[in-house]
Amino acid sequence: FVSFITAFLLAYEPAKRLARLNIDLNGLLIGARKLLEIIDSPASEPSDDDKPPLQLTQGRVELRDVTFSYRDDEPVLKRMSFVAEPGQTTALVGPSGGGKSTVLALLLRLYEVDRGAIVIDNQIISDCSRASLRQQTAYVGQDVYLFRGTVRENIAFGHVGATEDEIVAAAKAAFAHDFIMGFPQGYDTPVGEHGTQLSGGQRQRIAIARALIKNAPIILLDEATAALDSESEKYVQEAIGHLCRGRTTIVIAHRLHTIMHADNILVIESGEIVETGQHDALLRANGRYASFFRLQQREEDNVTPLAANA
Ligand code: ADP
Ligand code: MG
Repeated sequence: FVSFITAFLLAYEPAKRLARLNIDLNGLLIGARKLLEIIDSPASEPSDDDKPPLQLTQGRVELRDVTFSYRDDEPVLKRMSFVAEPGQTTALVGPSGGGKSTVLALLLRLYEVDRGAIVIDNQIISDCSRASLRQQTAYVGQDVYLFRGTVRENIAFGHVGATEDEIVAAAKAAFAHDFIMGFPQGYDTPVGEHGTQLSGGQRQRIAIARALIKNAPIILLDEATAALDSESEKYVQEAIGHLCRGRTTIVIAHRLHTIMHADNILVIESGEIVETGQHDALLRANGRYASFFRLQQREEDNVTPLAANA
């Protein structure tokens, strides 16, 4: 498969076919749109393999006074600073357009900061090779791309050379094993283009299995906004729990009840952190988070009858 991808890239094949592709380039599952940007302008991501590899010891992630803009206008992130402590879950919440996904993009070095620095275990990430950063980071985004191949191949994609035992263990931890075994062909079931259609929740669990098998110490999650049925959501949440355990996790949460137990919550608005703390303390503070939470609870109450049918 890797050679297929290489050939595909070298052939510079129809851009449209790549449009929803997440590809493990340098060990990272990156979004198709960004991939297209990279392919369209190879100069935008020059090789930096001559830089020393990022050496992870604890997995402490820090933004130091980071300012960033996509264009020469108002910065999208304004002198943002925070620490994601090793092994803990840090949640980013706030209104759409506030800059949450941009934080993850900078952590993956899909873009470089304009000012300030991102520091992991005392190393400035832009001083280290991109490949080493991405090998030690697993990203699970909102769009899950399954390439044309079997379920087994789609899971093993996170770790070239994975054994059957490793694949099954990852699938079990991701709550994917049972539905996979429910298919007549099990792990040999073809998925992706023209393959068996999987539900959103099933696709996400495949993506989580992929991330588990990669065994990266840093996890970046952009939670799905698409409404999953409550059964599927329960499994996806438990699978995410397995994925995050003991790893430094930065999660963008759209549904606040999923991050009530986060070690730290950062409320981001217009590129700035306006509130931080744990769920209970933030509710007591009765500020932005509390109003956000109440608003969402009302919305969820209103959609409950629909969600039950989904
Ligand atoms: P959030 O994830 O909190 O919704 P984003 O980080 O996606 O916010 O976006 C922050 C701001 O940056 C928004 O104004 C958005 O329009 C802009 N933005 C995001 N991605 C790009 C991009 N690739 N090019 C230009 N502007 C972008
Ligand atoms: Mg976003």
